[in-house]
Amino acid sequence: MSEKLVYTPLDEIEKIYNELKATFASGKSRAIPYRKYQILQLAYMVKDNVKLFEDALAADLGRPQIESRMMDIDTSIGEVKDTLTSFEKWAKPENAPFALNYAAMRPVIRKEPKGLILIISPFNYPIFLTIPLIASALAAGNAIILKPSENTPATSNLLANLVEKYLDTSLVRVINGAVAETTKLLEFPWGHILYTGGGKVGKIIAAAGAKTLSPVSLELGGKSPVFVDPKCDLKVAAKRILWGKTANAGQTCVAPDYIIVPQDFQGEFVKALQEVYQEFYPDSASAPGQMSRLVSPQAFTRVNNLIKNTKGTIVIGGETDEATKFIAPTIVKDVTPDDCLMSEEIFGPVLPIMPVSNIDEGLAYVNAHDHPLSVYVFSQDNEFKAKIFNNTQSGSIVANETIIHPGVHGLPFGGIGPSGSGYHTGKYGFDMFTHLRSSLDTPGWMDRLLSFRYPPYNAAKLKA
Ligand code: NAD
Repeated sequence: MSEKLVYTPLDEIEKIYNELKATFASGKSRAIPYRKYQILQLAYMVKDNVKLFEDALAADLGRPQIESRMMDIDTSIGEVKDTLTSFEKWAKPENAPFALNYAAMRPVIRKEPKGLILIISPFNYPIFLTIPLIASALAAGNAIILKPSENTPATSNLLANLVEKYLDTSLVRVINGAVAETTKLLEFPWGHILYTGGGKVGKIIAAAGAKTLSPVSLELGGKSPVFVDPKCDLKVAAKRILWGKTANAGQTCVAPDYIIVPQDFQGEFVKALQEVYQEFYPDSASAPGQMSRLVSPQAFTRVNNLIKNTKGTIVIGGETDEATKFIAPTIVKDVTPDDCLMSEEIFGPVLPIMPVSNIDEGLAYVNAHDHPLSVYVFSQDNEFKAKIFNNTQSGSIVANETIIHPGVHGLPFGGIGPSGSGYHTGKYGFDMFTHLRSSLDTPGWMDRLLSFRYPPYNAAKLKA
């Protein structure tokens, strides 16, 4: 039986909010040594408890250990360390570019905290989508309330317990709960709300932010297409695509959602995927420690129904087990635009292949739909790659690789339009939670130059 989430009592939420507002107002969170200590504690919080996090992720998602380390735990420690070593540089005030008319006014951009930050996170990467964001918000000098997902009770309980143990709880708190608790939180004004999750709830968050005039960033999902060109390194393409689709059982916001391939290359591409599938899972994908499970019975039923209802041809997988929420990596060929697999973000280990007569048909299809979080292209042909890069819009664009770009140092991560707004990781996370406060400090002697602005106005002053 899975662990039960320990809900934060609804009637305590306002009190917690007020306590954190008071801490922020006291100025405590702004001191650089204090920020540094809290970020360091956050790094230790993960590092000291790797095994507990692995166990929690295994309980919530059936996560293989290597996926937990690579995609949640180690990546988060790396991000926090990066923030720790760099944030003082990011936080330094910046002089405005020199301009003779204004230089004496000492124009400076101060990097100030926004205040109390609300981070609402999803179930799929419950460490990577919480810990580095807390680090960014701390680095910028804010107070933080984290609302983790109710769908990962073991990890969300662990986060609540460890935050109490390692961090200053007058500055950072975890509120656990589901819709009622999140709705309560959204009644208050925030320095910033960062929401990661599906677009349907994203609209609710954006509307709530509008009511309290709280700035909102949305990290959403969508259907990320993969263009496969016959002039690609086929073996590498098959490996990277299959891995990107099966890691975390396809429950990755940037997972390859569907394939666009020329009709006459579909057969060769499927053959390469079948070979790689044999290499990845020589026994069975359901063997212990090989594949994550779907997060909930509802998620299992949704993806299972997609498999049952597709009109395409299943060429790999198709096996499912309701009791363990297991869905085998499933590849479906000859999928048409009206198929159920093309109707929503799949968010499971099912990969439809949609054959097209030419690349322009594929581009027209992608451009007629919501801008995805990522567009992928596998090709060795620079012209082909450039055509995809230059004729699509998406959060990110990646050639010959899948799903690793959110972890690549120095790149911003975020969507565009229906796949989200705002950027995080590294300095971009710090910037999200930072107010650029313009400041001047104008000396009195400048009135010798500026006195023309004072009344009484007259024609002579206009000429001056
Ligand atoms: P979700 O939308 O179901 O839930 C996310 C959060 O929203 C949870 O904390 C939940 O408690 C809260 N929530 C749910 N219903 C709510 C409501 N009615 N009012 C207020 N809050 C509510 O998302 P999910 O299923 O947990 O995550 C999957 C989605 O997230 C996918 O679409 C995926 O692509 C997207 N995602 C995006 C990113 C990114 O960085 N862009 C990362 C991971 C996941």
